[in-house]
Amino acid sequence: MTERVTIIGSGPAGWTAAIYAARANLGPVVYEGAFNEDNRQKGTLPLGQLALTTEVENFPGFPAGDMTGYLDSSIDDGKRRYMAPHEKQGVSGPELMELMRQQAINFGAKVITDDIVELKLSERPFRVRSLSGTEFNTHAVIIATGARANYLGLASEDRFKNMGVSACAVCDGALPRFRNSPLVVVGGGDSAMEEATFLAKYASAVYIVHRRDEFRASKIMADRALNNEKIHVKWNSVIDEVLGDDENGVTGVRIRNVDDESQVEELGASGYFAAIGHTPNTDFLGNQLATSESGYVTWTQPPRTNTSVEGVFAAGDVADDRYKQAITAAGTGCAAALDAERWLADQGLE
Ligand code: NAP
Repeated sequence: MTERVTIIGSGPAGWTAAIYAARANLGPVVYEGAFNEDNRQKGTLPLGQLALTTEVENFPGFPAGDMTGYLDSSIDDGKRRYMAPHEKQGVSGPELMELMRQQAINFGAKVITDDIVELKLSERPFRVRSLSGTEFNTHAVIIATGARANYLGLASEDRFKNMGVSACAVCDGALPRFRNSPLVVVGGGDSAMEEATFLAKYASAVYIVHRRDEFRASKIMADRALNNEKIHVKWNSVIDEVLGDDENGVTGVRIRNVDDESQVEELGASGYFAAIGHTPNTDFLGNQLATSESGYVTWTQPPRTNTSVEGVFAAGDVADDRYKQAITAAGTGCAAALDAERWLADQGLE
């Protein structure tokens, strides 16, 4: 069997691509990923990074306010039960993803809950194999598998995810629990500077915990953070544990000085932000597509979403280490569907 277009990934890029491809009558199939322990551990479960966040206040079209009636009529009861109440909030990340998913299904996208583990781009049509063993061919592919935030790997980080542990200040920083109290950011690159500077707008103080005595960040971004009187740096320090309890979530961190192991300190904080980089989810691709040095799929003809292999398009965070926002991912998802549609038409495959 040969699909016209296969979309791999189920974040805002994947669903937006599916909505556009379905409306163009391409009959897209979406591999949304598998629900398994491996994906849970890696942070790559279906619905992507937004499924790991709470409120989303910056996705246009979802203003704060009581959305109950609208959301209840859009999502079936079985799923509705697992979602947070949303009075006074825009929309929650999981809700936004469920709504996009439903919108894609309404237009006829076929959704398969399985991972793609192999994609042979040397054959035409491309040959695809899923984790459960399904094999099929596809003329075009849209890769929208996203990226996962790197965490230190502490059990305590995992325990308090969504309860004060985050890897996205822009997504979560303005939430009530992070306002007017101290926060901790770990990392020393541009992301850490950006997150700390952003968080300082809301927090009473921000501690950057960095393992060395100098930042990797660009001078301009490092200076901006260092000149902010709310930001304090704990140099040569690592985080041994995120502290907290079930009721309050994160209450602080325990740090250790790497030069003098006896120097251990507890910092009180209502939030902990990991800013130690992201990893694009490209393992299943092998080395078949051109990528940047840090492994992000390269858009070879920007602003188009073409990749180094004709008929393969990329959308969202898997190809974007710059903006990394739900709305930009949705935008490139739309572009990828339109690019795929034109390419299929040019090949006489529409
Ligand atoms: P990055 O530049 O790779 O920096 C990661 C930081 O995390 C480094 O300081 C690193 O420490 C630290 N780190 C990594 N693993 C760690 C661990 N296990 N324990 C403790 N610390 C750890 O990543 P990034 O800051 O996310 O930036 C990624 C790319 O995006 C860069 O090219 C950056 O310039 C770009 N970016 C640009 C902007 C902007 O221009 N507005 C904003 C954000 C990101 P070491 O320094 O000791 O290795």
